[in-house]
Amino acid sequence: MKTNLLIAICALPFPAALLHADGAFYGDPPDAVHPWAIHDMNRPQPPRVEPATFSSQEKPGTPPSDAVILFDGTDATLGNWISDKNGEPTKWVVKDATLQCVPGSGYVRTKDEWADCQLHIEWSAPSEVHGDSQGRGNSGVFLMGQVEVQVLDNHGNPTYSDGFAGSVYGVNPPMANALRKPGEWQFYDIIFRRPIYKDGQLVDAGYLTVFCNGVLLQDHTPLQGGGGHKARTKDRPFPDKGPLKLQDHGNPVRYRNIWYRPLPKRAIDGGDTSVMSAEQTAAKRAEIAASIRDKAAKMEGKEKLLHLLESLVYAKDAGATNEATAMADAFVADVKATPADKIESRKGDVTQLNNALQYLEKWKIADFAATGEVLQIVKAREWDKKK
Ligand code: MG
Repeated sequence: MKTNLLIAICALPFPAALLHADGAFYGDPPDAVHPWAIHDMNRPQPPRVEPATFSSQEKPGTPPSDAVILFDGTDATLGNWISDKNGEPTKWVVKDATLQCVPGSGYVRTKDEWADCQLHIEWSAPSEVHGDSQGRGNSGVFLMGQVEVQVLDNHGNPTYSDGFAGSVYGVNPPMANALRKPGEWQFYDIIFRRPIYKDGQLVDAGYLTVFCNGVLLQDHTPLQGGGGHKARTKDRPFPDKGPLKLQDHGNPVRYRNIWYRPLPKRAIDGGDTSVMSAEQTAAKRAEIAASIRDKAAKMEGKEKLLHLLESLVYAKDAGATNEATAMADAFVADVKATPADKIESRKGDVTQLNNALQYLEKWKIADFAATGEVLQIVKAREWDKKK
C-alpha cells in the first residue's frame, strides 16, 4: 500500500490546479463572511455572455446572447403580451415594427413573470406635441407591475420632478434630463432589484438604477414601497415575481427593442455574491471543501495530497486531515530516501508541497509534522532562493 502510494507520488506530473493554475497557494483565505480566498480559482467563473456586435445593421441596445426578447418588432401578434385589464389579447398595435399604445385600451403586460433583472427598452413620444406636464407623451415602465419608471415627453416640458421622465414615480426624481426630442428614440437601461423580506422583516429595500440614452438618472435608488400617484408609500414586500407592464396614460407612445436579462439572486436572497452571512458562508465553504475532496478521491499521489490540503482551507475535516498527514509523512520519507544524484529531480514536487504546507501554517488552518521537515529540505538545498 505504502509503496504504491510512493510510486504514485513520484510518478505524477505537475498537479492539477489548486488555488492557482501553477499549484501555488496564495491570497487571504476564506473567513467568516467570505467563503472564497482572495483570487480564488474555486470561485465560479462569470458566465460568458456574448455582447452584441455593432455592424452597420446593429446599434447600441442590441441584445446580448442571454437576453430574453420581449419585443423586437417581428411578432405582429404580440404573442408575449396580453391586456392587463382582462388577460385577453391586447388592443395595443404593432405598427412599423414598433409596439404602440392605443389610448383607452389599458395597460399591456407580459405573459412572462420574473423579478430582478436588467431591462432594455426604447420608447418614443409622439412627434406631434399635444398637452403639457403629465399630459404629454406619458406612459410608464412598471417593473414587476409594481413600480414605475416614468416615460414622459419632458423635452421643454416641465412637470413635478418626482414624475419626470426617468423618475421612480412618486419616489425620486431623475438626476438629469437627457431626453432627445419628441419623435426620437429614447433608450432606457434599467437594473431592478425587488425588496427582500425575511420573517416579515425588511432585509433589503429593493433598488432601481436607470440610464437614459447612456446618462445615469437613478443610482441604486431605494424603492420605498414602489411609489404611486399622490400617495407616499412605505417599504413593503413585493411578490416573488411579476410581469413587465407598460402604461396607457392616454398618449400613443411607441416602444421597440424590449429585452431583459434575469439577474442572479443577491446573497441576502440565497444567492452567491461577495457579502454573505456567517451561516451562508459556512455552508458554502463546506460545499466547496466537499467538492474538492470528491475530486481528490479520484486522484493519487501528490495531486491528491495537494487537493486534500486545499480542501482544509475551506473546512476542517478529520478524515481529510488524517489522510493528508499520512501522505505528507510518506512523501517526506520518500524524499529523504532519494539518492543524492537524483534529489534535484524532486525540487518541483517538494517546493510545491512546501508552499501548500506553509500556507496552511501561516493561516493557522492546519499544522502537520511534515511542515517543518519539508521546509528543512527546501532550505538545506536552497530551493527557496531564486537562482
Ligand atoms: Mg406614466
